[in-house]
Amino acid sequence: MDIKCELVPEDSRKPIPQPDELGFGIHFTDHMFVMDYKDDKGWINARIIPYSPFTLDPAAVCLHYGQAIFEGLKAYKGIDGKIRFFRPMENMKRLNRSAWRMCMPQINEKDLLDAIKKLVDIERRWVPEAKGTALYIRPFMIATEPFLGVRPAKEYILSVILTPVGAYYKEGFNPVKIFVTDKYVRAAVGGVGEAKAAGNYAASLMASEEAKEKGFTQVLWLDAKERKYVEEVGTMNIFFVLDGEVVTPELTGSILSGITRDSVIRLSKDWGYKVSERRISIDEVIEAAKSGKLNECFGTGTAAVISPVGFLYYKDQGYKINGGKTGPLAQRLFDELTGIQYGEKPDPYGWVEFLE
Ligand SMILES: *Cc1c(COP(=O)(O)O)cnc(C)c1O
Repeated sequence: MDIKCELVPEDSRKPIPQPDELGFGIHFTDHMFVMDYKDDKGWINARIIPYSPFTLDPAAVCLHYGQAIFEGLKAYKGIDGKIRFFRPMENMKRLNRSAWRMCMPQINEKDLLDAIKKLVDIERRWVPEAKGTALYIRPFMIATEPFLGVRPAKEYILSVILTPVGAYYKEGFNPVKIFVTDKYVRAAVGGVGEAKAAGNYAASLMASEEAKEKGFTQVLWLDAKERKYVEEVGTMNIFFVLDGEVVTPELTGSILSGITRDSVIRLSKDWGYKVSERRISIDEVIEAAKSGKLNECFGTGTAAVISPVGFLYYKDQGYKINGGKTGPLAQRLFDELTGIQYGEKPDPYGWVEFLE
């Protein structure tokens, strides 16, 4: 793919934020990648340009009917100074699966990854050094055709923006308190829950706001039909260790197929755990918590990697997990995955790609 580059003059580039001011998704780098899609031309005008607002027609389909999808991955600065990506091709494939589900055009996975690498290369100075920090990469696609009607749009923008992010855990792991909601649902089987579609996150806001008001960090989602089977936690996949068995909900179509989830399954299996992708009811979880068989619970996702759950609240009752502390598997997975991502540990699965 031919990418036109229009770069900001060196002396007009933004100052890099201090490591302790990074936060998440607050600062954006000097440049962005953009390409356009037209029904009759395919993807055109691939370009890296100064980070700047889009001009959108007020009738753009994304603003009215929600044809909008995204991805999230990170570039890590390893202890050897090399920049690494973690299984980035999986993000490209998932972007295409989301696009397919939302009737949006397919992209060339290798071309997009090459474009991302080129953009990160230009923005090298933005990749923070400290362990736990990273340059978060946000590819996204929106429908831009000006047309008020419900059918797939004929014009799109694919863009990639970059934001340096701070360490999720500044003083070690902090297990979170989770509210199990049986009032709201995130996604239903047959819906778009397995797509990283923008509207899914708007749909989840009310439940997480109510949970936060009650003093919880996030929501644990149950299935839409019976409000019985565990699905995800916040915007992460969820794992339990039940009497030594590692359990995560099977992918039914309403659950996002996390790359961290897949990596955690692989590692746990190779470490000798019995790993089951199966339906798991909230009653089974609560029973196990009562009888002391619920050893651990944690969420998985690119942002936090592993997020231990120390407390569950369901139907007016609270349940402590592992004494509210991080369990041994959560800790080991976190150490292994971040070890691979920052080049401190070998990469036996070939998960890492380098920026040359
Ligand atoms: C992105 C996401 C995840 C985690 O996926 P990763 O590939 O591990 O980052 C899980 N659940 C939801 C709803 C998500 O949007």
